[in-house]
Amino acid sequence: MIRFEDVSVTYDGATEPTVSGVDFEVPEGELVLLVGPSGVGKSTLLGAVSGLVPHFTGGTLRGRVTVAGRDTRTHKPRELADVVGTVGQDPLSHFVTDTVEDELAYGMESLGLAPAVMRRRVEETLDLLGLADLRHRSIATLSGGQRQRVAIGSVLTPHPSVLVLDEPTSALDPAAAEEVLAVLQRLVHDLGTTVLMAEHRLERVIQYADQVVLLPSPGEPTTLGTPAEVMAV
Ligand code: ADP
Ligand code: ADP
Repeated sequence: MIRFEDVSVTYDGATEPTVSGVDFEVPEGELVLLVGPSGVGKSTLLGAVSGLVPHFTGGTLRGRVTVAGRDTRTHKPRELADVVGTVGQDPLSHFVTDTVEDELAYGMESLGLAPAVMRRRVEETLDLLGLADLRHRSIATLSGGQRQRVAIGSVLTPHPSVLVLDEPTSALDPAAAEEVLAVLQRLVHDLGTTVLMAEHRLERVIQYADQVVLLPSPGEPTTLGTPAEVMAV
């Protein structure tokens, strides 16, 4: 569903690539973790999936990244929005409306869906994320875990087949993190969504992963394995 083929990214002005020789596939319907220390290039690779890199960051992407067969270098993020939902590191910067309900609806506005379909998708997403009771609340009044779920919900209403998340639990306490991870697991198991998620702390999330991609340190090869295989390295 997501394929990296010998990918390297060099940002404008940099002398060395930030990531290079990245080669792995994320199969449809799996939850795959991208793990490595801060600064190793996890966000860069997620950006290459959502099309932000290099379209909005500047720089050069070599090799090829495809999502559901679409080359992200020749498709702008807007042209990928129906396939890839992206939740960045800071959910607050993500929000464009005031209430939970409006935020879930916003992502669908450019899709040309009938109002009844949009309403149904908002209802379905509120239920899926356990947000029904909060629908009229202002996002500014929510807890970190609730906000993270709203951020996820807002990219789910277009029904993307791929969800890309950058450390979605790193700012959360353990209970809120569990809630977010449970939602992701439900998406993968019940709806067959493909999830690629960056994380620098492996222990909290590894039990949820089908596979783990290790980015050990700049320039070293990536390793792909099951959680058990990767833990043995
Ligand atoms: P991680 O997500 O693993 O912490 P990043 O992908 O955010 O890593 O960053 C990897 C490296 O790329 C860092 O050295 C960072 O400074 C650099 N970098 C990230 N984004 C940009 C950008 N837009 N322009 C230039 N350099 C960048
Ligand atoms: P509509 O949006 O008109 O209801 P769709 O064919 O787009 O029809 O999707 C309806 C089905 O999609 C429902 O059965 C629902 O369970 C499922 N669904 C809900 N959320 C998602 C999602 N995020 N991604 C894919 N399918 C989803």
